[in-house]
Amino acid sequence: MKKRPSAKKPRERTLRREAERDHEKTVRERERAFASLPGGTEANPIEVTATSQIPILARGLVCARCLSRLDIVHEASRVLYGRVARRVELSCRQCGAKRTAHFAVATPTLN
Ligand SMILES: [Zn+2]
Repeated sequence: MKKRPSAKKPRERTLRREAERDHEKTVRERERAFASLPGGTEANPIEVTATSQIPILARGLVCARCLSRLDIVHEASRVLYGRVARRVELSCRQCGAKRTAHFAVATPTLN
């Protein structure tokens, strides 16, 4: 079997680069889609009735890059418009990509 250098390799590299570019584009589109869903921004949070629901829902989210499950790395709460707003920072178990999810806890107080 005689080897012919050149010819094939650059083409493979080009294809691989194109595939990487396509993947990056898909990831960016997915990140934009996730940002527009409830939980994507503080102004558009995922509504819960109890804080205990937050970790369960947060762990149900997936990575924008590889669609793997996420681990909670940090949580911060503050009061926003009279209710608890919680920001949950997540990290992908597979690739380490970050994702932030926003929750709002409906308070049963009447006033
Ligand atoms: Zn990932």
